[in-house]
Amino acid sequence: MIRRKKQGSLIIISGTTCAGKGTVVKELLKRHSDIALSISYTSRPMREGEENGVDYYFVSVDEFEKKIQNGDFLEYAKVQYGMYYGTPKREVKQLLEEGKDVILEIDVQGAQQIKKLFPETILIFIMAPSMVEVKKRIKARGKESNEQIIKRFQTAYKEINEIPKYNYVVVNDVLEDAVEKIEAIFISEKCRVDRIEEIAMENQEEIIHEFLMDKDFDNSTSYHNL
Ligand code: 5GP
Repeated sequence: MIRRKKQGSLIIISGTTCAGKGTVVKELLKRHSDIALSISYTSRPMREGEENGVDYYFVSVDEFEKKIQNGDFLEYAKVQYGMYYGTPKREVKQLLEEGKDVILEIDVQGAQQIKKLFPETILIFIMAPSMVEVKKRIKARGKESNEQIIKRFQTAYKEINEIPKYNYVVVNDVLEDAVEKIEAIFISEKCRVDRIEEIAMENQEEIIHEFLMDKDFDNSTSYHNL
């Protein structure tokens, strides 16, 4: 019998701009009720269609800095345009204690901070199939200025250089394939010996005794070899 650790695992999902990590994460959450998503705090303004407490907890710079001083974050970083983003300590701790695996959808700086704190964290990097595809996806969005787009590209190139710090890289060409690859990672991680608390075997003597008493078992030859 194998007993797995009761506490859930931390899973970091990072990715380049327009890699579709948000869509991948949504699909994973839909399929797995034992996986939860940590909702980050940010000082960036809310975008159209976003909801406070669903996409992020939107707070002012002052509120964010107070939270830093209170030690409320597991990690935090200035990510886009000097805006703060941070992972709340209390909420994540509670989800892990409930036995949930918790996804942190955070950038590479945050990923490194978490890895230092919890070395057993699973780090997954999601990539778009090519930078040409990224360009297409950004244009299709059509929401940003040229300057913002160039900044995004520069960040993406920098982040790709950080991939060796991750455990897994998944190319998101076809959504279904990308989700399946991440599910395969989860399954393998669950089987890792260091994620298992105890391997308990039934009593050896009892099993051998029952085996020898079994009428259907011809023990005339093998008994003495046991
Ligand atoms: P966006 O503003 O487009 O929602 O997110 C910008 C970037 O911030 C993304 O790369 C996202 O992964 C990252 N991010 C979101 N939440 C956090 C967080 O709590 N911590 C860190 N370090 N990065 C985050």
